[in-house]
Amino acid sequence: MGTLIVAGIGPGAYEHITQAVIAALNVCDEIIGYTVYIDLLKPYFPAKEYISTAMRQEESRCRIALEHAASGRNVVFVCSGDAGVYGLAGLLEEMSVEYPSVQVQVLPGITAALSGAAILGAPLVNDFAVVSLSDALTPWPVIAKRLECVAMADLCIALYNPCSHRRKEHLAMACDILLKVYPADRACGYVKNIGRKGESASLCTLEELKAADIDMFTTVFIGNSYTRIMAEKLVTVRGYAYEGQK
Ligand code: SAH
Repeated sequence: MGTLIVAGIGPGAYEHITQAVIAALNVCDEIIGYTVYIDLLKPYFPAKEYISTAMRQEESRCRIALEHAASGRNVVFVCSGDAGVYGLAGLLEEMSVEYPSVQVQVLPGITAALSGAAILGAPLVNDFAVVSLSDALTPWPVIAKRLECVAMADLCIALYNPCSHRRKEHLAMACDILLKVYPADRACGYVKNIGRKGESASLCTLEELKAADIDMFTTVFIGNSYTRIMAEKLVTVRGYAYEGQK
């Protein structure tokens, strides 16, 4: 009987890891994760046993973690941000039915939408949606439909996976869908490498976002009709007080 803790380690900085995750990392036998996150943790937990696998080997990484936990080891499986937000908590829970002796526990982490929003100001103070532009697991027409629905609902949006090496055009395609409903000067922002080396934040309009220099380590924010750029921050103002002033 072993324990498998699935932990979100936040965006990258040690101080953004929760106390509960630090406690779990301190007492575990081994830490498993994608190479980039393992490299972030090693300096802080040098005595641990580490198992890292490359990006596209999610299923085998999960299998290794479950096998090791089933053999009685205390394993922490790490994901960036929150493990339940485009992370592997779901796949691990699904696969764990094959390992009845393993107790899976998910520990939350600070997801990129929240750490990025804090850097930009306060874009997500009212209702918002989180949409991933990755079509690895979700077909593009489904993503496009979701963007249309989100725009109809006048929600602020946090976009994850805005592009990858394979898909450079998805962000511009998403902007075109939103531009059918949102105006070209809609306030937007994006944050690269949150909590990591090279962190940078930018503000722009929705039209400018189409051609912005954005990579896969970026989270993008698109305001709703109450979002403003003020004093170099992205802020969604408290709606009802401003009703009638637009
Ligand atoms: N589980 C993660 C999300 C993984 S999906 C979380 O909760 O944050 C990967 C996407 O998350 C990236 O393409 C990017 O859009 C966003 N992301 C994750 N970490 C980031 C960081 N440190 N800086 C900027 N964006 C990040």
